[in-house]
Amino acid sequence: MRALRAAVRGTVLTDGDEGFEQRCSGWNLLRAHRPSVVVAATGAHDVSVAVRFATDQGIGLGVHATGHGMALPVDGVLIDTREMTGLMVDPDRRTATIGAGCTWGEVLAVTQREGLAPLLGSSPTVGAVGYTLGGGLGWLARKHGAACDTVRWFEVVTPDAAVRRVGPDEDPDLFRGLRGGGGAFGVVTAMEVDLVPVDTVYAGNLYYPPDRAADIAAAFGEWVSGVPDELTSSFVCQNAPPAPVFPEQIRGRSLVVVRGCWSGDLEQGEALLDEWRSQTSPLFDHWGAMSFADCASISADRIDPAPAVVTGEWIYRCDAGVGRALAEATFPVDDAPLLVFSEVRHLGGAVVRGDRSATSFGHRDHPFFMNTVGVSIDRDPTPIADHQRQMLRSLGNAATGAAYLNYLDQDERRHRTGDAFEAGVRTRLAALQHRHDAGGLLRYGADHRL
Ligand SMILES: Cc1cc2nc3c(=O)[nH]c(=O)nc-3n(C[C@H](O)[C@H](O)[C@H](O)COP(=O)(O)OP(=O)(O)OC[C@H]3O[C@@H](n4cnc5c(N)ncnc54)[C@H](O)[C@@H]3O)c2cc1C
Repeated sequence: MRALRAAVRGTVLTDGDEGFEQRCSGWNLLRAHRPSVVVAATGAHDVSVAVRFATDQGIGLGVHATGHGMALPVDGVLIDTREMTGLMVDPDRRTATIGAGCTWGEVLAVTQREGLAPLLGSSPTVGAVGYTLGGGLGWLARKHGAACDTVRWFEVVTPDAAVRRVGPDEDPDLFRGLRGGGGAFGVVTAMEVDLVPVDTVYAGNLYYPPDRAADIAAAFGEWVSGVPDELTSSFVCQNAPPAPVFPEQIRGRSLVVVRGCWSGDLEQGEALLDEWRSQTSPLFDHWGAMSFADCASISADRIDPAPAVVTGEWIYRCDAGVGRALAEATFPVDDAPLLVFSEVRHLGGAVVRGDRSATSFGHRDHPFFMNTVGVSIDRDPTPIADHQRQMLRSLGNAATGAAYLNYLDQDERRHRTGDAFEAGVRTRLAALQHRHDAGGLLRYGADHRL
């Protein structure tokens, strides 16, 4: 331990040290890591030292940034990347070099000054690197693709403690594995991504009464089959908390929501939405022109930590049956567990067109992805997870059985990793993991070999 402390530039903490508990916890309060050592790394050098230490001690090593996507609790060495907040934007090349500890909100704030944005997701507090390793689907997905499609290179420390820069011409197999295959091959310390030009978008939410779930889902499924790629949108059954991030009329209510973001000519976007409004007049209309810098307000995801139970699955369609199933499982009934929301995101477009030969992101062809979130007050995820599984079963033949790594949480992220990839990709990723981590150093996250 003395040698470790002397070798790293960041902080080394063990149980009882001030700040240890805080370093072990993250956004999801369901479980906390219980490591024997935390290394609050400042860069690739510290990560490499920590990897060598774990190997020498014969213990496992895990990594977290924000704790939005925890898999198994780490009981060996935990690398906390939150100090690694280096961020450099090159407006001429339209790229950003992003440290492993940056959140998307931090990256967006800086890039928007140049009229640019990364392909971030719905929440500004999610980590840029963790999200991108899993694929990364946000409000610009149908226009520009998944975040992993935009990566130019990663800096990664592999389980042999080597610091590598990987890109299309430098270890292309590892580069391809990290683009959507998760963090099973090493600890990423930084990445460079392409940015896209975007300033004002036409975005927001249209709210409907909860008993409209089936007909709104059917109309939504039909409508989006013909919309341009500039629109990425979703159908949601939401129990809005009485929180100020929601408009006053919405707080504390159960509602059906059509939500989305048009990034293109504003008049064209407004005309498209007017067409939808004329068919299905909403109860409350909160959709309009807004700065993309405020895109976190579209989903208004919870910022404060929560004991969340999250899962999801790619689905074949959004129709009345899907709407009914989501409403029955999500809106309050007797003493059934309450979900915060269940959402069907419309994908396709540039997500489907992404380069499969250079990325590993699975199941791109499916047009819709369903995700659902519950909050377990007593921190026992079982009743909510059972309820979510029951909802997936009630989707019948709309469900594909295909998972998305970013929405496999807790034990599922490790034990169902394979469900997030097509068979051929899975075999390649298992071989890559064996090549880099035959000894199982990274034993707490995604596992392609199971
Ligand atoms: C409120 C909320 C909103 C979300 N919105 C979206 C969305 O719109 N679109 C979407 O695609 N996903 C979304 N997600 C899912 C999110 O992308 C994943 O949970 C992602 O894994 C979070 O990464 P993180 O670094 O923030 O979390 P962490 O819990 O810190 O890390 C998650 C996992 O990523 C791995 N990891 C993290 N950093 C590194 C690293 N430097 N090197 C190697 N591996 C690493 C680790 O294995 C870790 O278990 C959302 C999740 C939540 C809770």
